[in-house]
Amino acid sequence: MRFFNRLFKRTKSKEGNEAQGGTAAPIPQERERQVFCSGCFTVLPESNIHLIPCYNDTLRNYVTTYRCESCWLDGIDETRERIELAESSSDIELAAEFFKRHAVFIHEYLRGDPPEDVKRALLRLIDLLKTGGLKLRIGKTEQMQ
Ligand SMILES: [Zn+2]
Repeated sequence: MRFFNRLFKRTKSKEGNEAQGGTAAPIPQERERQVFCSGCFTVLPESNIHLIPCYNDTLRNYVTTYRCESCWLDGIDETRERIELAESSSDIELAAEFFKRHAVFIHEYLRGDPPEDVKRALLRLIDLLKTGGLKLRIGKTEQMQ
């Protein structure tokens, strides 16, 4: 029996970390997430990525877009111009809903103020994104099944 245990333990220790007790090299738990820039199609660490709203013609809505340092300003300028030129209240509403999905609430929108007032608030939010006064974040990583 003793021989069997020795043999068994030796075999097990060769198999993997579990059998090595506390001596196994730690597996890094907090590896930075990698994000795909939809402007230039490169992959970068999350800390180098900006989350911005961009209008998607297919979905006819503002979507979250991940952009790298060299792509994000063009993207945000495009969005700002679109909001600035928006004439229908539904276009303004779509942009306000985008921010709401990111837990940024515009009181003027929620209480039903005129679209022009909501637009002013939206443009301010865009400017804050641009200057770093507002930073949108990617949600939690879902556990893989
Ligand atoms: Zn890019």
